Amino acid sequence: MSVPLKKEVQCIAFVNQKGGVGKTTTAVSLAAALAQDNQRVLVIDLDPQANATSSSGFLNYLGPTIYESLSGEVELSKCVAEAEDGFALIPSTPDLAGIEVELVSAVAREQRLKTTLAPILNEYDWIFIDCPPSLGLLTVNALTAAKGVIVPVQCEYLALEGLSHLTETITLIREHLNMELKIIGVLLTMFDSRTRLAHQVEKDVRLHFPQTFKTVIPRSVRVGEAPSHGRSILSYAPSSKAAIAYVDLANELHICMEDDNEFRTTNE
Ligand code: ATP
Ligand code: MG
Repeated sequence: MSVPLKKEVQCIAFVNQKGGVGKTTTAVSLAAALAQDNQRVLVIDLDPQANATSSSGFLNYLGPTIYESLSGEVELSKCVAEAEDGFALIPSTPDLAGIEVELVSAVAREQRLKTTLAPILNEYDWIFIDCPPSLGLLTVNALTAAKGVIVPVQCEYLALEGLSHLTETITLIREHLNMELKIIGVLLTMFDSRTRLAHQVEKDVRLHFPQTFKTVIPRSVRVGEAPSHGRSILSYAPSSKAAIAYVDLANELHICMEDDNEFRTTNE
């Protein structure tokens, strides 16, 4: 009798030290798309701005958060909140900004998130980590815990700025903290097909990063509105082009991960 292989959890960090490129929107929308497909998804808000928390419907959250968990006060499993869109969330608050200073002299401070995550890894199919717009200790913790990185890039002037610094950081993390880490894909966001600039940026990004997703997320007013309703675009405007793009991205991601597993099996 063949025993079915246990599906490994896919832990993915959404990273770009540039602000406002669509990290949070992508983490939350992709989580909602996968949850609609009966996948068990956990989103970890690792940003003191707490945008993933508020966009998931938790304004002024008062329960235990990622901050208490990283500082060792509460187990991560006690911090889980259920979002309306069907995924689980580890919320954040502005208190999280203090953690970088608090952990300055802590042992293995880059491994904190990985260690706190270990006991609940098997409860999910996907774990998404929404990173702040910096390459500081919080992002280093995300890169140490994750297997892969998705890099959202806004289709605007200077889109590629900072990406070489990001890839150098990923190489360093791979060498010193997490051998497994890889860039799963670069994601073009806020694409406005009417502008020549957006097409030029797409061309440049695809040239520099062959692992850019085929799916492109269009710019849409509805995406900007959804967070103020505490919903993702998937439930706020399910038939919008952006919602459909995030469903396409979820499908593309499934294929990427399956190809990767096949690659690993044949190379082991
Ligand atoms: P930060 O670096 O500050 O965490 P971020 O990279 O997480 O930012 P988001 O918060 O996801 O970026 O997006 C920045 C802004 O752009 C938000 O107001 C969001 O609603 C808006 N936005 C994101 N994607 C789109 C889109 N496809 N169309 C229109 N607006 C969008
Ligand atoms: Mg964000």
